[in-house]
Amino acid sequence: MQDMFRFADAYGPAKIIHIYRPKLGLKAILVVDNVAAGPSIGGVRMAPDVSVEECFRLARAMTWKNAAAGLPHGGGKSVIFADPHMDEAAKENLIRAFAVAIGEVTDYIAGPDMGTNEQCMGWVRDEIGRAVGLPSVIGGIPLDEIGATGFGVAAATEVAAPFAGVQLDGARVVVQGFGAVGKHSARFLAEKGAILVAASDSRGTVSDPDGLDIEALIALKQSGGHLTDFCAGEKGDTDAVLDVPCDIWIPAARPDVVRADNVGRLNCKLVPQGANIPFTKEAESILHERGVVVIPDFVANAGGVICASVEYHGGNERSAFDVIDIRIRNNTRLVMEEMRDDAIAPRAAALNLARRRVEAAMTTRRWG
Ligand code: NAD
Repeated sequence: MQDMFRFADAYGPAKIIHIYRPKLGLKAILVVDNVAAGPSIGGVRMAPDVSVEECFRLARAMTWKNAAAGLPHGGGKSVIFADPHMDEAAKENLIRAFAVAIGEVTDYIAGPDMGTNEQCMGWVRDEIGRAVGLPSVIGGIPLDEIGATGFGVAAATEVAAPFAGVQLDGARVVVQGFGAVGKHSARFLAEKGAILVAASDSRGTVSDPDGLDIEALIALKQSGGHLTDFCAGEKGDTDAVLDVPCDIWIPAARPDVVRADNVGRLNCKLVPQGANIPFTKEAESILHERGVVVIPDFVANAGGVICASVEYHGGNERSAFDVIDIRIRNNTRLVMEEMRDDAIAPRAAALNLARRRVEAAMTTRRWG
């Protein structure tokens, strides 16, 4: 048997729970990492190939993300070993059984993640009375529809722009991944005067140095089209988005899309990370040496989790936007100032900020 304490350090994890219900075929793991600031919030991931390692790493990432966002919540995560495309009734049974199994772990609040959605969170809430990312009919805030994360990405970009020598009015923006995060980031930045010069999806890239019509691109995607079907602009393959010169380059698609072998293709000044871990460590340090400012994922894309926290505390769409704006602006400014004053990479500055907050919260607790 592997030693579960191999993950233990000064911050957690507080609990690793193994859930097994052989009659139902339910196999799951819940990691509650650090709860000094409050009950942990973290998604439920459903996939056949998840692991305890992955669950722990994701739970720890949530500890830093929630602390960096300044939320009264710790980090947690759960994984269910199953195919998310199973039939609906079987999925409902499995999710409900999972919910019952975590019912007494009151310092964990489940949210949607890969393989689960708001409907699943509705089932969890029905069983145990708590979950976030709920359907709107039972108090959920539809964060992808309203563009909560993209709104936060735009706010972070505005605060970081002067630190990268970028003026937002007239700034050229490129978005990789024109989905929930990418399209709303483009839309909110355009409201601040920026111009979208290229965007990509899983099929290809469309670009126009004079600017693309964002609403028309959104309508095209909504109707099931691909960006390369767009009536204007130059078309290229998916990776062509790397080569478009711009001021602001926003990754909003997949992990590890920019690595040491292709980072040389980027020609930009500021990178607000909309996606989670879109760049490898090497790529980020190369950009830092080149003077490109990267706003780390857990600072720039915290709009979604802030929205979930507002939902949990009974807020609505309007209050979610207000809280996202205040928190992301404040946190981005703190990270940018520490980056500049201590001459360190922005990710190091953001981690310092998150650690300081977790450590301060731990001083208020008898057992940390
Ligand atoms: P989404 O599925 O709505 O959109 C993803 C888009 O990326 C799609 O348009 C898809 O065609 C495109 N895409 C896929 N592979 C691509 C590639 N190789 N090159 C270019 N485009 C590609 O997903 P989303 O909710 O917008 O999430 C995007 C990323 O942001 C993910 O990493 C997600 O974990 C992260 N994230 C999302 C939220 C949120 O609130 N939705 C919050 C924090 C982080």
